[in-house]
Amino acid sequence: MPRPFRVLATRAETADTTTLTMEPVDGTPLGFSAGQFTMIGSFGGSEAPISVTSSPAAGGPIEQTIRDMGGVTHALATAAPGDILTVRGPYGTGWNVTDGAGGDLVIVAGGIGLAPLRSALLEVLAARSGYRRVCLLYGARSPAEQVFRDDLARWGGGEGGVALDVTVDRADPGWPGRVGLVTNLIPGAEFDPARTLALVCGPEVMMRFVAAALTDADVPAGRIRVSLERNMKCGIGLCGHCQLRELFICTDGPVLPYDRVADLMALREL
Ligand SMILES: Cc1cc2nc3c(=O)[nH]c(=O)nc-3n(C[C@H](O)[C@H](O)[C@H](O)COP(=O)(O)OP(=O)(O)OC[C@H]3O[C@@H](n4cnc5c(N)ncnc54)[C@H](O)[C@@H]3O)c2cc1C
Repeated sequence: MPRPFRVLATRAETADTTTLTMEPVDGTPLGFSAGQFTMIGSFGGSEAPISVTSSPAAGGPIEQTIRDMGGVTHALATAAPGDILTVRGPYGTGWNVTDGAGGDLVIVAGGIGLAPLRSALLEVLAARSGYRRVCLLYGARSPAEQVFRDDLARWGGGEGGVALDVTVDRADPGWPGRVGLVTNLIPGAEFDPARTLALVCGPEVMMRFVAAALTDADVPAGRIRVSLERNMKCGIGLCGHCQLRELFICTDGPVLPYDRVADLMALREL
Protein backbone atom coordinates (compact mmCIF):
# COMPACT_ATOMS: atom_id res chain seq x y z
CA MET A 1 0.00 0.00 0.00
CA PRO A 2 1.26 3.52 -0.75
CA ARG A 3 2.16 5.47 2.39
CA PRO A 4 2.02 9.26 2.61
CA PHE A 5 5.44 10.93 2.97
CA ARG A 6 5.97 14.63 3.70
CA VAL A 7 8.60 16.55 1.76
CA LEU A 8 10.88 18.21 4.34
CA ALA A 9 13.42 19.82 2.03
CA THR A 10 14.44 20.03 -1.61
CA ARG A 11 17.93 20.51 -3.05
CA ALA A 12 18.62 21.36 -6.67
CA GLU A 13 21.39 19.07 -7.97
CA THR A 14 21.38 20.25 -11.61
CA ALA A 15 19.02 22.25 -13.84
CA ASP A 16 16.65 19.27 -14.11
CA THR A 17 17.45 17.11 -11.06
CA THR A 18 16.31 17.58 -7.48
CA THR A 19 16.89 15.67 -4.25
CA LEU A 20 13.88 15.39 -1.95
CA THR A 21 14.22 14.75 1.78
CA MET A 22 11.03 13.04 2.97
CA GLU A 23 9.63 11.58 6.17
CA PRO A 24 6.75 9.14 6.63
CA VAL A 25 3.65 10.90 7.94
CA ASP A 26 2.84 7.90 10.20
CA GLY A 27 6.30 8.12 11.82
CA THR A 28 7.34 4.54 10.96
CA PRO A 29 10.79 4.73 9.28
CA LEU A 30 11.31 3.16 5.87
CA GLY A 31 13.83 0.30 6.21
CA PHE A 32 15.70 -0.35 2.96
CA SER A 33 18.94 -1.73 1.57
CA ALA A 34 21.30 0.38 -0.53
CA GLY A 35 20.34 -0.10 -4.19
CA GLN A 36 16.62 -0.63 -3.60
CA PHE A 37 13.97 1.67 -5.05
CA THR A 38 10.49 2.87 -4.14
CA MET A 39 7.48 3.68 -6.30
CA ILE A 40 6.81 7.39 -5.64
CA GLY A 41 3.70 9.21 -6.75
CA SER A 42 1.85 12.45 -6.26
CA PHE A 43 -1.84 12.48 -5.32
CA GLY A 44 -3.94 12.30 -8.47
CA GLY A 45 -0.85 11.42 -10.49
CA SER A 46 0.93 8.22 -11.43
CA GLU A 47 4.03 6.59 -9.87
CA ALA A 48 7.68 6.22 -10.95
CA PRO A 49 10.42 3.90 -9.67
CA ILE A 50 13.09 6.00 -7.92
CA SER A 51 16.16 4.72 -6.03
CA VAL A 52 16.82 5.67 -2.44
CA THR A 53 20.02 7.72 -2.21
CA SER A 54 20.42 8.22 1.54
CA SER A 55 22.24 5.95 3.98
CA PRO A 56 20.36 2.76 4.87
CA ALA A 57 21.74 3.09 8.39
CA ALA A 58 20.36 6.58 8.98
CA GLY A 59 16.86 5.47 10.02
CA GLY A 60 15.13 8.87 9.85
CA PRO A 61 14.05 10.80 6.74
CA ILE A 62 15.01 9.37 3.34
CA GLU A 63 16.51 11.14 0.34
CA GLN A 64 15.56 10.41 -3.28
CA THR A 65 16.97 12.19 -6.32
CA ILE A 66 14.73 12.75 -9.30
CA ARG A 67 15.48 13.84 -12.85
CA ASP A 68 12.58 15.58 -14.56
CA MET A 69 12.04 13.30 -17.58
CA GLY A 70 8.29 13.42 -18.19
CA GLY A 71 4.85 13.70 -16.58
CA VAL A 72 5.43 11.75 -13.37
CA THR A 73 8.97 12.82 -12.61
CA HIS A 74 8.09 16.47 -13.35
CA ALA A 75 5.47 16.42 -10.58
CA LEU A 76 7.98 14.81 -8.18
CA ALA A 77 11.01 16.94 -9.07
CA THR A 78 8.99 20.14 -8.58
CA ALA A 79 7.50 19.12 -5.21
CA ALA A 80 7.92 21.70 -2.44
CA PRO A 81 8.54 21.39 1.31
CA GLY A 82 5.26 20.49 3.01
CA ASP A 83 3.87 18.60 0.00
CA ILE A 84 2.64 15.05 0.57
CA LEU A 85 3.75 12.31 -1.85
CA THR A 86 2.97 8.59 -1.82
CA VAL A 87 5.71 5.99 -1.38
CA ARG A 88 5.45 2.20 -1.89
CA GLY A 89 8.26 -0.18 -1.14
CA PRO A 90 11.17 -0.53 -0.81
CA TYR A 91 11.45 -2.97 -3.70
CA GLY A 92 14.08 -4.92 -5.59
CA THR A 93 17.55 -6.20 -4.89
CA GLY A 94 20.32 -4.18 -3.23
CA TRP A 95 24.06 -3.81 -3.79
CA ASN A 96 24.93 -6.05 -0.80
CA VAL A 97 28.15 -4.11 -0.25
CA THR A 98 29.21 -6.26 2.69
CA ASP A 99 30.12 -8.96 0.13
CA GLY A 100 33.13 -6.70 -0.57
CA ALA A 101 34.22 -6.38 3.07
CA GLY A 102 37.90 -7.11 3.64
CA GLY A 103 38.78 -6.23 0.06
CA ASP A 104 38.56 -3.36 -2.41
CA LEU A 105 35.35 -1.68 -3.46
CA VAL A 106 35.23 0.01 -6.86
CA ILE A 107 32.16 2.17 -7.48
CA VAL A 108 31.70 3.46 -11.03
CA ALA A 109 28.88 5.94 -11.62
CA GLY A 110 27.63 7.83 -14.64
CA GLY A 111 25.41 10.93 -14.26
CA ILE A 112 22.41 10.41 -12.01
CA GLY A 113 23.55 6.77 -11.62
CA LEU A 114 25.46 8.09 -8.61
CA ALA A 115 22.11 8.27 -6.73
CA PRO A 116 21.73 4.57 -5.78
CA LEU A 117 25.52 4.20 -5.43
CA ARG A 118 25.70 7.10 -2.94
CA SER A 119 23.53 4.99 -0.63
CA ALA A 120 26.05 2.11 -0.94
CA LEU A 121 29.01 4.41 -0.38
CA LEU A 122 27.41 5.95 2.73
CA GLU A 123 26.87 2.41 4.06
CA VAL A 124 30.54 1.59 3.45
CA LEU A 125 31.76 4.84 5.03
CA ALA A 126 29.82 3.97 8.19
CA ALA A 127 32.03 0.83 8.43
CA ARG A 128 35.08 2.13 6.56
CA SER A 129 37.67 0.10 8.45
CA GLY A 130 36.06 -3.10 7.11
CA TYR A 131 37.26 -2.33 3.56
CA ARG A 132 40.72 -1.89 2.09
CA ARG A 133 40.62 0.55 -0.84
CA VAL A 134 37.36 2.37 -1.68
CA CYS A 135 37.40 3.95 -5.14
CA LEU A 136 34.66 6.17 -6.58
CA LEU A 137 34.99 6.84 -10.31
CA TYR A 138 32.41 9.36 -11.49
CA GLY A 139 31.64 10.59 -14.98
CA ALA A 140 29.13 13.27 -15.99
CA ARG A 141 28.32 14.80 -19.36
CA SER A 142 29.48 18.24 -18.21
CA PRO A 143 30.52 19.92 -14.94
CA ALA A 144 27.01 21.38 -14.60
CA GLU A 145 25.48 17.89 -14.80
CA GLN A 146 27.34 16.50 -11.80
CA VAL A 147 25.04 15.54 -8.92
CA PHE A 148 25.91 15.54 -5.17
CA ARG A 149 28.62 18.18 -5.66
CA ASP A 150 28.94 18.84 -1.91
CA ASP A 151 29.62 15.13 -1.29
CA LEU A 152 32.11 15.00 -4.16
CA ALA A 153 33.96 18.00 -2.71
CA ARG A 154 34.16 16.33 0.72
CA TRP A 155 35.23 12.92 -0.61
CA GLY A 156 37.69 14.60 -2.98
CA GLY A 157 39.11 16.45 0.03
CA GLY A 158 39.97 13.13 1.67
CA GLU A 159 36.90 12.62 3.87
CA GLY A 160 36.15 8.96 4.49
CA GLY A 161 39.30 7.71 2.78
CA VAL A 162 37.59 7.58 -0.61
CA ALA A 163 39.87 7.53 -3.68
CA LEU A 164 37.75 9.80 -5.88
CA ASP A 165 38.41 10.41 -9.56
CA VAL A 166 36.04 12.49 -11.66
CA THR A 167 35.77 13.16 -15.39
CA VAL A 168 33.37 14.96 -17.73
CA ASP A 169 32.58 14.27 -21.39
CA ARG A 170 32.61 17.98 -22.25
CA ALA A 171 34.47 20.57 -20.18
CA ASP A 172 33.72 24.27 -19.91
CA PRO A 173 36.45 26.95 -19.65
CA GLY A 174 36.54 26.90 -15.82
CA TRP A 175 36.85 23.11 -15.47
CA PRO A 176 40.27 22.15 -14.03
CA GLY A 177 39.75 18.39 -14.09
CA ARG A 178 39.78 15.44 -16.45
CA VAL A 179 37.89 15.22 -19.73
CA GLY A 180 36.90 11.89 -21.28
CA LEU A 181 34.89 8.79 -20.59
CA VAL A 182 34.64 7.25 -17.12
CA THR A 183 36.19 4.03 -18.46
CA ASN A 184 39.49 5.98 -18.79
CA LEU A 185 39.64 6.23 -14.98
CA ILE A 186 39.72 2.45 -14.41
CA PRO A 187 43.42 1.79 -15.19
CA GLY A 188 44.54 4.42 -12.63
CA ALA A 189 42.28 3.26 -9.81
CA GLU A 190 44.85 0.97 -8.14
CA PHE A 191 42.57 -1.82 -6.92
CA ASP A 192 43.45 -5.48 -6.54
CA PRO A 193 41.16 -7.25 -9.06
CA ALA A 194 41.32 -10.57 -7.23
CA ARG A 195 39.74 -9.01 -4.13
CA THR A 196 37.48 -6.40 -5.70
CA LEU A 197 33.72 -5.95 -5.66
CA ALA A 198 32.64 -3.49 -8.37
CA LEU A 199 29.30 -1.64 -8.38
CA VAL A 200 28.25 0.13 -11.58
CA CYS A 201 25.26 2.38 -12.38
CA GLY A 202 24.65 4.76 -15.24
CA PRO A 203 23.29 4.70 -18.78
CA GLU A 204 23.22 1.13 -20.08
CA VAL A 205 25.83 1.73 -22.77
CA MET A 206 28.18 3.16 -20.12
CA MET A 207 27.63 0.09 -17.89
CA ARG A 208 28.47 -2.23 -20.79
CA PHE A 209 31.77 -0.46 -21.50
CA VAL A 210 32.66 -0.16 -17.80
CA ALA A 211 31.95 -3.85 -17.19
CA ALA A 212 34.12 -4.76 -20.20
CA ALA A 213 36.95 -2.55 -18.91
CA LEU A 214 36.69 -4.09 -15.44
CA THR A 215 36.79 -7.65 -16.81
CA ASP A 216 39.78 -6.60 -18.97
CA ALA A 217 41.39 -5.48 -15.69
CA ASP A 218 40.79 -9.04 -14.36
CA VAL A 219 37.80 -8.35 -12.10
CA PRO A 220 35.66 -11.54 -12.35
CA ALA A 221 32.30 -10.86 -14.08
CA GLY A 222 30.49 -12.35 -11.08
CA ARG A 223 32.07 -9.67 -8.83
CA ILE A 224 30.69 -6.83 -10.98
CA ARG A 225 27.16 -5.67 -10.16
CA VAL A 226 25.07 -3.43 -12.39
CA SER A 227 21.72 -1.73 -11.78
CA LEU A 228 19.34 -2.10 -14.71
CA GLU A 229 16.48 0.24 -15.61
CA ARG A 230 13.41 -0.80 -17.51
CA ASN A 231 9.97 0.79 -17.72
CA MET A 232 8.08 -0.27 -14.61
CA LYS A 233 4.50 0.02 -13.46
CA CYS A 234 3.74 -2.24 -10.49
CA GLY A 235 7.19 -2.76 -8.95
CA ILE A 236 6.17 -6.14 -7.55
CA GLY A 237 6.54 -8.60 -10.43
CA LEU A 238 2.91 -8.68 -11.55
CA CYS A 239 2.46 -6.47 -14.60
CA GLY A 240 5.37 -7.62 -16.78
CA HIS A 241 6.34 -4.12 -17.99
CA CYS A 242 9.95 -4.56 -16.88
CA GLN A 243 10.40 -8.13 -18.10
CA LEU A 244 13.78 -8.84 -19.69
CA ARG A 245 13.66 -12.43 -21.04
CA GLU A 246 13.37 -14.56 -17.86
CA LEU A 247 13.92 -11.64 -15.45
CA PHE A 248 11.51 -9.16 -13.91
CA ILE A 249 13.81 -6.21 -13.22
CA CYS A 250 11.58 -5.03 -10.35
CA THR A 251 11.96 -8.24 -8.33
CA ASP A 252 15.03 -10.06 -9.74
CA GLY A 253 16.81 -6.68 -10.03
CA PRO A 254 17.49 -3.84 -10.36
CA VAL A 255 20.93 -4.88 -9.02
CA LEU A 256 22.21 -7.98 -10.83
CA PRO A 257 25.59 -9.64 -11.29
CA TYR A 258 27.11 -8.78 -14.66
CA ASP A 259 27.75 -12.43 -15.58
CA ARG A 260 23.99 -13.03 -15.36
CA VAL A 261 22.94 -10.11 -17.59
CA ALA A 262 25.83 -9.43 -19.98
CA ASP A 263 23.96 -10.89 -22.98
CA LEU A 264 20.64 -9.29 -21.96
CA MET A 265 22.19 -5.83 -21.72
CA ALA A 266 22.63 -5.86 -25.48
CA LEU A 267 18.81 -6.08 -25.90
CA ARG A 268 16.95 -2.83 -26.49
CA GLU A 269 13.70 -2.07 -24.66
CA LEU A 270 10.61 -2.17 -26.92
C1 LIG B 1 14.84 0.60 -10.56
C2 LIG B 1 14.78 2.02 -11.11
C3 LIG B 1 15.34 3.04 -10.37
C4 LIG B 1 15.30 4.35 -10.87
N1 LIG B 1 15.85 5.34 -10.11
C5 LIG B 1 15.76 6.60 -10.53
C6 LIG B 1 16.29 7.66 -9.73
O1 LIG B 1 16.85 7.46 -8.64
N2 LIG B 1 16.15 8.93 -10.19
C7 LIG B 1 15.54 9.20 -11.40
O2 LIG B 1 15.43 10.37 -11.77
N3 LIG B 1 15.07 8.22 -12.20
C8 LIG B 1 15.14 6.94 -11.79
N4 LIG B 1 14.63 5.94 -12.58
C9 LIG B 1 14.00 6.30 -13.89
C10 LIG B 1 12.60 6.87 -13.67
O3 LIG B 1 11.78 5.88 -13.07
C11 LIG B 1 11.99 7.29 -15.04
O4 LIG B 1 12.69 8.40 -15.51
C12 LIG B 1 10.52 7.67 -14.88
O5 LIG B 1 9.75 6.50 -14.64
C13 LIG B 1 10.00 8.37 -16.13
O6 LIG B 1 8.60 8.61 -15.97
P1 LIG B 1 7.90 9.94 -16.48
O7 LIG B 1 6.42 9.74 -16.49
O8 LIG B 1 8.38 11.12 -15.72
O9 LIG B 1 8.42 10.10 -17.93
P2 LIG B 1 7.84 9.43 -19.25
O10 LIG B 1 7.14 10.49 -20.01
O11 LIG B 1 7.14 8.15 -18.95
O12 LIG B 1 9.20 9.04 -19.92
C14 LIG B 1 10.20 10.00 -20.24
C15 LIG B 1 11.37 9.27 -20.85
O13 LIG B 1 11.93 8.38 -19.87
C16 LIG B 1 11.90 7.03 -20.35
N5 LIG B 1 11.54 6.17 -19.23
C17 LIG B 1 10.33 5.98 -18.70
N6 LIG B 1 10.38 5.13 -17.66
C18 LIG B 1 11.67 4.75 -17.56
C19 LIG B 1 12.38 3.88 -16.72
N7 LIG B 1 11.80 3.19 -15.74
N8 LIG B 1 13.70 3.75 -16.89
C20 LIG B 1 14.32 4.43 -17.86
N9 LIG B 1 13.72 5.27 -18.70
C21 LIG B 1 12.41 5.42 -18.54
C22 LIG B 1 10.84 7.01 -21.43
O14 LIG B 1 11.08 5.99 -22.38
C23 LIG B 1 10.98 8.40 -22.04
O15 LIG B 1 12.06 8.45 -22.94
C24 LIG B 1 14.68 4.63 -12.12
C25 LIG B 1 14.12 3.58 -12.85
C26 LIG B 1 14.17 2.29 -12.37
C27 LIG B 1 13.57 1.18 -13.17
